[in-house]
Amino acid sequence: MQAVFARFEAAEPEPKGELEHVNAYTLLVAVALSAQATDVSVNKATRELFKIADTPARMLALGEERLIEHIKTIGLFRNKARNVMKLSQILQDQYGGEVPSSRAALQSLPGVGRKTANVVLQMWFGHPAHAVDTHVFRVGNRTGIAPGRDELAVERALEDHVPVAFQQHSHHWLILHGRYICVARKPKCPICPIRDWCLYEEKTT
Ligand code: SF4
Repeated sequence: MQAVFARFEAAEPEPKGELEHVNAYTLLVAVALSAQATDVSVNKATRELFKIADTPARMLALGEERLIEHIKTIGLFRNKARNVMKLSQILQDQYGGEVPSSRAALQSLPGVGRKTANVVLQMWFGHPAHAVDTHVFRVGNRTGIAPGRDELAVERALEDHVPVAFQQHSHHWLILHGRYICVARKPKCPICPIRDWCLYEEKTT
């Protein structure tokens, strides 16, 4: 683990998430919108949206129908719009318009699951949380650094084994690695910085 993350760090010392946001609230909304959608498609929709609705109060003022106009290019947009309105109302009524920093409070919001909560906890609040998406799940299992039958098992393995010094950025290194190098169909093993540490038996040549 030490060697693997040292390689990631050498290649990209300050990895950044690709979802555009301007505060904790817009990060939460962007992550919630990104379920089963690409970051690129979410950014396209939110770039204009967040100029006029970057707080729960402004989102509520915008209203569900106008929100839908902004996000209708994203999959499951009706359901997502409903959840964004509901969570905005709760944030406004119960949290003074702020995003709470506890996992339990985040996961109690409509449309916010464990993965979304982990992204917000890690990216905004700096908690060593590991959001396991399809990329992290694949990389964890292929490489052997965090094997697990389901997302929670991979998350637990990462929690238990990622060295403390790398926990702040491990989430982004793994996502970016899975998105651009250890891709699903044909991983780019010849250019992979952790090739010699990876346990995947079907490396490409
Ligand atoms: S060597 Fe190949 S399979 Fe292993 S992490 Fe790198 S890209 Fe993925």
